[in-house]
Amino acid sequence: MKHLLMATSAMALLVVAGCQPSTETDVQADATPEATPTQTADASSGSPEFGTFGIDLSYIDEATAPGDDFNRYFSGKWLDTFEIPADKTRFGVFDKLAEGAETQVHEIIEDTAAAEPALDTVEGKLAAYYNAYMDTETIEAKGLAPVQPYLERIAGIETREDLAKTFAATGFSAPFGGFVDVDSKKTDEYIFYVSQGGLGLPDRDYYLKDTQNNLELREGYIALLTNMLEAAGYDDPAGAAQMVYDLETDIAEAHWDRALGRNRNLTYNKMTKAELVATGEDFPTEILLTELGLGDQEEFVVRQVTPTAEEIEDNGLTEEDLGKLGPGVAGLLKLAQTADMDAWKAYLTAHFLIDHADVLPAEIDDAVFDFYGKQLGGQPEQRARWKRGVDSTENALGEAVGKVYVEKHFKPEAKAEMTELVENLRKAMRQNLEGLEWMGEDTKVEAYDKLAKFTPKIGYPEKFETYDGLTIVEGEAFANDMAVAEWQYADMISQLGQPIDKTEWFMFPQTVNAYYSPNRNEIVFPAAILQPPFFDLYADPAVNYGAIGAVIGHEMGHGFDDQGAKSDGDGVLRNWWTDADTEAFKARTDALVGQYNEFCPIENGEDDTLCVNGRLTLGENIGDLGGLSMAYTAYKLSLNGEEPPVIDGVTGDQRFFMAWAQVWRALYREERTRTQLATDPHSPPQYRINGIVRNMDAWYEAFDVKEGDALYLPPEERISIW
Ligand SMILES: [Zn+2]
Repeated sequence: MKHLLMATSAMALLVVAGCQPSTETDVQADATPEATPTQTADASSGSPEFGTFGIDLSYIDEATAPGDDFNRYFSGKWLDTFEIPADKTRFGVFDKLAEGAETQVHEIIEDTAAAEPALDTVEGKLAAYYNAYMDTETIEAKGLAPVQPYLERIAGIETREDLAKTFAATGFSAPFGGFVDVDSKKTDEYIFYVSQGGLGLPDRDYYLKDTQNNLELREGYIALLTNMLEAAGYDDPAGAAQMVYDLETDIAEAHWDRALGRNRNLTYNKMTKAELVATGEDFPTEILLTELGLGDQEEFVVRQVTPTAEEIEDNGLTEEDLGKLGPGVAGLLKLAQTADMDAWKAYLTAHFLIDHADVLPAEIDDAVFDFYGKQLGGQPEQRARWKRGVDSTENALGEAVGKVYVEKHFKPEAKAEMTELVENLRKAMRQNLEGLEWMGEDTKVEAYDKLAKFTPKIGYPEKFETYDGLTIVEGEAFANDMAVAEWQYADMISQLGQPIDKTEWFMFPQTVNAYYSPNRNEIVFPAAILQPPFFDLYADPAVNYGAIGAVIGHEMGHGFDDQGAKSDGDGVLRNWWTDADTEAFKARTDALVGQYNEFCPIENGEDDTLCVNGRLTLGENIGDLGGLSMAYTAYKLSLNGEEPPVIDGVTGDQRFFMAWAQVWRALYREERTRTQLATDPHSPPQYRINGIVRNMDAWYEAFDVKEGDALYLPPEERISIW
């Protein structure tokens, strides 16, 4: 599992959650509308892209006091006037930059295709994949013929052995999934992680909590299932859809709650193959594993296993917590054995069409968009085909695009500058650690070691994937989709038994995002995030520290968040904390949970009030709070004791905090906010701004925030962790 700076789109998450055993790590940032190339700083004039020092002050709402709502103070005029494009569920700085990268990638693909490269070259694969995806005329003409063999396979399932083999086969859905990653307790080895999966709605709560909104979504989802089963030729599609929905409700009951599922101790359950097979009781788990190419694996990590009495005690689980933990993987295997076979067949059929909708006729594709895009996301219009084609091609062959993207659009001087910034942040974190009063010396020694061992990766990987063995065929969008899934799975499991590939990246250079990997202890910053307003070679230092500096700090902060801090400097999941320090840390993080639980972006009376889940978002909130604190220290260190200039009436500290508000300026559609609150470990952006700055003394001084202001916290309630 990687900790991303920003979540992917709801749809992308669903595709990952809904697909057959596949990597959870290789996710994409949300792509965007409107082809506006990102401006780059003018090297000759040396002026920043935004404003005179790196910040655009034109959206400041003078009618709002910074202490009442810092986000609105800084961005009010934009928040009041900007209209989210019709093909988006949110829009902000990330999306704006992603839009620029999308245009650049589109050009790369079109240029590649124009050269008519041979099909057995990586360029040829790229061109053929994209062209086939764009050829909707051929997709329409083929109708459902390409999927018929797969639907027939499902229809022909007779035994649980057949079912196990189909769950394992490429392109089919399953109630569980898995991925290869570094073994969290033995970080020089790969292991296969087995995890829950298989829901069509975004989370178990959609099935189990009877809110008005959930009732409406269920209705829409059942209508979609009906639609799919009708297209597949079912005589009673509505009846079959209800069976699928009921089956998914059983799957949801077996699932774990999302916030509790973050607990890395509880989700690390090593089992021998024999133990895993025994967990499945009568279900032919052995056949499932063999078909997955895992028959010779001696050990697995199973993520959702009912905790033992000792684990309940050690992790402080309450009765209420235990009520949110279904039986997990064991329960799902049991369901695979006991649930009605016709329900499974209808489930596999409907999910197969949903999962491949974008390369099937419009009748299928539009129905899937109507539910996932419109109803669940609030997105009025489908994205243009070329944008979806760019996205799909990136998912299939992203590093082939990335190689060219870096050559064309990444400036080497940005890498040098960024390397220096990372080291400045490391020094700042060291200083913060030394000054911590709540942490004892023994734990600090381990923390210093961990900090020193962070591996930064900046810009792009040392070597790019060559996609050897992947066969792409002209004019076969669906077959290409399947070939890519097959290749990616084979590529992933080929790592088992091999030494750890330390050069591997889990994001493309053209992705506007960043991540931390706890069991590799590495912080990773793709080329595409190293642009204004995150990073501008010509901006005032306060701005770069408040933006990309805080992003670097955020990723470092994940190494010390409530879950990341469970790994040591070598990435090993091992308790390196004294009990007293664990207690002191928990007191601080619990307080942060309490603060975030109070933020409720949707308040429509008692029946429809939705608040941030402070537990689900804790890791990200610690990352933000620690990150901005570290960045502030680094900024101060960079000044060497000198007073920074006041520029256009704005002080250095004001510029620093404005830079943070600038990168998180965003608008969300209400539907998207609802999904985010239910599923996303990141808090909505207004709280990433307001919820963090109110804990920092320097912000109070910079903007003269006083008691009585809405965001004011008395000094003793301000939380400082790192
Ligand atoms: Zn994060």
